[in-house]
Amino acid sequence: MKHYDLFVIGSGSGAARAAFICRRAGFRVGIAEKAAIGGIAAAAFTSPQKRLTAASEAVNFVNSMTGCGLKGSVSVDWEHLRGISAESVSYGLEEEFNSAGIEVIHGKCSFADKNILNINGEQIFSRFILIAAGAAPAKLSFAGSGHLTSSFEFMNLEALPPSVVFAGGGYISFELAHIAARAGAKVTIVEALPRVLRGFDDDLVDLLLKESAALGIEIFTDAPVRFLEKHSGGLIMQAGTHKIAAALAVHGAGRAPDIEGLCLEAGEISTNEQGIAVNCYLQSVSNPAVYVAGDVNALGMQLKPVAEMESAAAAVNMLFGNHEMPEYNVVARALLTSPQLCAVGMGEREAALENIPFDVHFVNKLSSQKSGCGMDCAKFAFKIISEKGTGRILGVHILGSEAQEAVNTAALAIRGGCTIKNLKNTAIVFPSLFYDVINSLNCDYRS
Ligand SMILES: Cc1cc2nc3c(=O)[nH]c(=O)nc-3n(C[C@H](O)[C@H](O)[C@H](O)COP(=O)(O)OP(=O)(O)OC[C@H]3O[C@@H](n4cnc5c(N)ncnc54)[C@H](O)[C@@H]3O)c2cc1C
Repeated sequence: MKHYDLFVIGSGSGAARAAFICRRAGFRVGIAEKAAIGGIAAAAFTSPQKRLTAASEAVNFVNSMTGCGLKGSVSVDWEHLRGISAESVSYGLEEEFNSAGIEVIHGKCSFADKNILNINGEQIFSRFILIAAGAAPAKLSFAGSGHLTSSFEFMNLEALPPSVVFAGGGYISFELAHIAARAGAKVTIVEALPRVLRGFDDDLVDLLLKESAALGIEIFTDAPVRFLEKHSGGLIMQAGTHKIAAALAVHGAGRAPDIEGLCLEAGEISTNEQGIAVNCYLQSVSNPAVYVAGDVNALGMQLKPVAEMESAAAAVNMLFGNHEMPEYNVVARALLTSPQLCAVGMGEREAALENIPFDVHFVNKLSSQKSGCGMDCAKFAFKIISEKGTGRILGVHILGSEAQEAVNTAALAIRGGCTIKNLKNTAIVFPSLFYDVINSLNCDYRS
C-alpha cells in the first residue's frame, strides 16, 4: 500500500494551495481527481464566464460611448467567444503538480477507513486527508427537474437558444442571465422566495432589478417551480402561478457540498444537515486526520478566494498543528452582472444582528447625467455601513461598472480599521469609481 503524508481529494481551488504548501514543507503529497484537473474554476466555469461577462460589459461600454466619438455597434458573438473559452481553460496545472513532486491520480476516491482511501481498485494510506471535493448543483425534487441544464453545460452551448429560463434567483442565474440577455436571448428568472439575491443589500438589489428589467430580463418571485415539461417546441415551466415557455431551462438554484460517494461513514467522518461537521480549524470533528477546504465546506462562501484561503489554513494546521482559522469577516464578493453588484463586510442585517449601532450612507447616482461618453463610473449607487460614533467602516456595497476594484480597495480599508473620515481625507485617483464614492461621502456631515 502506498503511503502519503497528505492526500487531497479534488484538484480545484480548495486543493491546490494545500498541496503546494505541504509539498514545499517536505510532505509526500498525492491528489485524486475524478474529472478535469483544476476543478470548476479551471474546467470551463469561472474563466470562460469572465470572458463572456467582459464581452457583455464591453458591449455596454461601447453603447455608452456611441455618439461620443464612436460610431457603429457591437454585439456578443456567443459561438466565437465560447470557442475561445473552450481553448483557453488548460492551465497546465497538472504539469505544475508534477514538477512540484505532487503525484496526480486520475480517478474517483472514497474512504475505506480513517486514513485509508480507495482509488482505481487500490488502497492508499495517508497521515492527513484533505477533502476538497467541491459542490454540485443542489438536488431539486420537482417533476421534470431532469430537463434542467447545469450552468456548466450552459457555458458550453454551441449556440445560444432564443429563450432561457433560470430556476433560482441567486448569483449564478443573474450572471448568466445578463450574459444571455445581452447576447440576444429572451430571459426569465424564477425564484421561490419573495426576494432574489439574498446576501446582497436589498436597496442595491432593487436597483439592479430595474437595470435587469431594462435589459428585458423578466423576474418572478414567490414562484417555486412546480414542474418542467418537454414539448416538441421546447420546454414549459410552471413556477408559482406563472407558465413560462423557453427553449432551455437552467439550474441556478444553488450548489451543495459534493459528498455523495465519498463513503464518509467508512472514514468515521460525521456530517450534519449542511455537510461535513468541522471545527474552526477546518478539521473533521470525528476524524482528526481529515480536513476540508473549498465549496465542500458549507461554512464558507462558495468563492475561489475563500476556497484558497481555507486550503492554505488547512495546510498550516496539518503542518504545524491547529492554530489557523480562515477569516470570513472580510470577504469581498462580486455579482458579475452589468452593472456589477459588489460587497464586502457587513450589511444592515448583520450589523443589527450583532447589536452594533450603525449609520447608513446610501447614495444613488445610477441615473446620473454624467453617464455616457466613457463616464460610466459616474453612474453608480452605493451603501456604506459605519459604526455610529466612531465612523469605523463595517461594510461597503457598490453597484456600478467598476465596482469590483472599488470593493477590493474597500476590503483593505475595512481590514485596516479605516473610518469614514479616513476615506474622506484620502486623495485617490480621479476619474475612478471609488473617487466618486468618496466624493459623494464628502457631502455627508457625519464622520
Ligand atoms: C457558474 C459559476 C461561476 C462562478 N463564478 C465565480 C466568480 O466569479 N468568482 C469566484 O470567486 N468564484 C466563482 N465561483 C465559485 C468558484 O468557482 C468555487 O468557489 C471554487 O472553484 C471552488 O473550488 P473547490 O476546489 O472547492 O471545488 P471545485 O473547483 O469544484 O473542485 C472540486 C474537484 O473535486 C473533484 N472531486 C469531487 N469528488 C471527488 C472524488 N470522490 N474523487 C476525486 N475527485 C473528486 C471534482 O471533480 C472537482 O474537480 C463560481 C462557480 C460557479 C459554479
